[in-house]
Amino acid sequence: MPMPVVHADVLIVGGGPVGLALALALGAHELSVVVVEKADPEAQLAPHYDGRASAIASASARMLRALGLAGLLDGFGCPIRSIEVAEGLHPDVLHFAAHDDEPLGIMVENRDLRAALLAAVRSSPAVRLCAPATLRRLDRHAARVEAELDDGTQIAAGVVVAADGRRSALREAAGIRIARWRYPTTALVSIVGHARPHGHVALELFYPSGPLAMLPLNDQADGGHRSAVVWSVPQAMAPGLLKLGARGLAVELRRHLGGRLGRVELAAPVSAWPLGFHHAERYHDRRLILVGDAAHGIHPIAGQGLNLGFRDAAALTQVLVEGVRAGLDPGDPAIARRYEAWRRADNSLTAFATDALARLFGISLRPIARVRRLGLGLVERLPPAKRLFASIARGTAGDLPALLKGELV
Ligand SMILES: Cc1cc2nc3c(=O)[nH]c(=O)nc-3n(C[C@H](O)[C@H](O)[C@H](O)COP(=O)(O)OP(=O)(O)OC[C@H]3O[C@@H](n4cnc5c(N)ncnc54)[C@H](O)[C@@H]3O)c2cc1C
Repeated sequence: MPMPVVHADVLIVGGGPVGLALALALGAHELSVVVVEKADPEAQLAPHYDGRASAIASASARMLRALGLAGLLDGFGCPIRSIEVAEGLHPDVLHFAAHDDEPLGIMVENRDLRAALLAAVRSSPAVRLCAPATLRRLDRHAARVEAELDDGTQIAAGVVVAADGRRSALREAAGIRIARWRYPTTALVSIVGHARPHGHVALELFYPSGPLAMLPLNDQADGGHRSAVVWSVPQAMAPGLLKLGARGLAVELRRHLGGRLGRVELAAPVSAWPLGFHHAERYHDRRLILVGDAAHGIHPIAGQGLNLGFRDAAALTQVLVEGVRAGLDPGDPAIARRYEAWRRADNSLTAFATDALARLFGISLRPIARVRRLGLGLVERLPPAKRLFASIARGTAGDLPALLKGELV
């Protein structure tokens, strides 16, 4: 006997941080949502699944608070009160500080972020999470979207959102092309313990081999200090560094930090992430909308990738909620067009700026290094330029959707 059809306003494929945040936001506005995630959520919470941590910019943090995740940010997050950018250990430092109570961003381990989003989604009456589950069929008809899951569940929805990450199968099936390139760089990511406190400072140190970012994490229960490390190195160098093992890598890190954090030791396995850029030529097709890494992927140099995805989720929530309130069908192309018009400029600008930064700081020639130092010094002495960079880091620049101001629509 065929299974009864589950009806929803929105079907989201992909229960990563962006898909789950979007589901929560839509549910908070009484839109009904089904999320299909192929991985087992419990497996996604295992320590080895994703040992990264993310910098949640302050605008994204406002959205998470509005969606009921204050406990995650206050309980597990470590506020970034200032950012220091320097050319290696050169004494000229570009320094951004939070001048009010709101930090520049909050560092959260991805595992904690996933756990909090999952718990919130599970307790949202408007959201049904199907996981682990895969799509056996997805038909985007003129009048609605119909899907069938591998367990036979039938779903009918007004629109399907692809939140299925950088290799989005939905994007490919729709024939949406992407501009893409690979950086000749690998990011080595881990968590380190260190003897001296970080003082809530995020460090971005540019070396000829690539940038080294140290991002503050909460102290351990026993008072031990910790930071997340994202070390971008040339692809050819990565295997050699990995071969050094935990002790050798810790020595290298300490040397690159000039002893600033004292003795350093690895507190988690090191994972290696090949880095690339991609941007979809368009964000929608018939009854299909792309969000997060399905639409764009950028260099992690400025820790903005996930934040762009959260901004997509906030803008899409607003256009869907306002569209449905005005009597439109969620799959109306006018909603998708408004979403793309709102998000493309910010995504393109951030993608372009991070790409330019990654390339500029990837050049090891001495004269270029001198120009970079001059540039850092210039921004340091120009308060309006500093304010602009700080507002970009916070995600508070431009025309913000309500959720990024901490309000529901
Ligand atoms: C080294 C590194 C460091 C980074 N640091 C930061 C940072 O500090 N701050 C920041 O903002 N960003 C950072 N980023 C970027 C950030 O990790 C990504 O932008 C973010 O994970 C994208 O979230 P997403 O939900 O769009 O996609 P994903 O996290 O990729 O989630 C996609 C989900 O879809 C599921 N899925 C895939 N296909 C299907 C299918 N067919 N059916 C059902 N489910 C499916 C997957 O299982 C997955 O759960 C970093 C990236 C890297 C590589």
